[in-house]
Amino acid sequence: MKKQFAVIGLGRFGGSICKELSRLGMEVMAIDHSPEKVDEFKDIVTHAVVANSTDEAALKNLGIRNFDHVIVAIGDDIQSSILTTLMLHELGVKHITVKAQNDYHEKVLEKIGAHEIVHPERDIGIRIAHHIVSKNVLDYLELSDEYSIVELIAGEKIHGKTLIDLDIRAKYGINIMAIKRKEEINVSPQAYEKICRGDILIVIGADRDIDRFEKQLL
Ligand code: ADP
Repeated sequence: MKKQFAVIGLGRFGGSICKELSRLGMEVMAIDHSPEKVDEFKDIVTHAVVANSTDEAALKNLGIRNFDHVIVAIGDDIQSSILTTLMLHELGVKHITVKAQNDYHEKVLEKIGAHEIVHPERDIGIRIAHHIVSKNVLDYLELSDEYSIVELIAGEKIHGKTLIDLDIRAKYGINIMAIKRKEEINVSPQAYEKICRGDILIVIGADRDIDRFEKQLL
């Protein structure tokens, strides 16, 4: 059976989640208290419903606890976001993801039963900053304070070299997990694989080691 999602709040973030989940073929109920917003999504998602998520009876009527995953994408109205999350938790929703506006909001959400807390603006800001500082960094995913997965563009210095020539694992302690070349992606690059200028290397490792690799070799 298809997974069933409910998205509460159809601003830019919630709206984009709804569109992508629908594109991926998921069943999506889109909820907002603004009829105009709901109207915008009625042809995109499985059901689009006008409801105030801080109204417990309304949430019960929607059968919210039967959804596999509920995403709370209420932006500025932190009070509504907190109250909604609390009620979803009390109603026994299995998986609740909530967008946090700031660190205080996150702390409260953790305490009241959010299973996953996301900071889309903060995260995208970090990724863009890495790209601005180094044009070789295409994308950046923080795994912890120390470790990341980074997409790097191969430069002239390593053009035509194999992974053995570069001896990256021993010299830098990082791993090249995959190499993207145009439309193709090689997810288990072999030691004899030659790298070309412009290839995209997907690298995992400690930030300082990735940084060293980037400065010396790209
Ligand atoms: P973003 O920054 O992602 O664009 P917004 O704050 O602009 O977020 O959008 C949040 C959406 O959540 C708005 O469409 C708003 O109508 C909706 N919303 C806010 N509070 C509630 C609520 N209590 N019940 C249902 N929808 C809500």
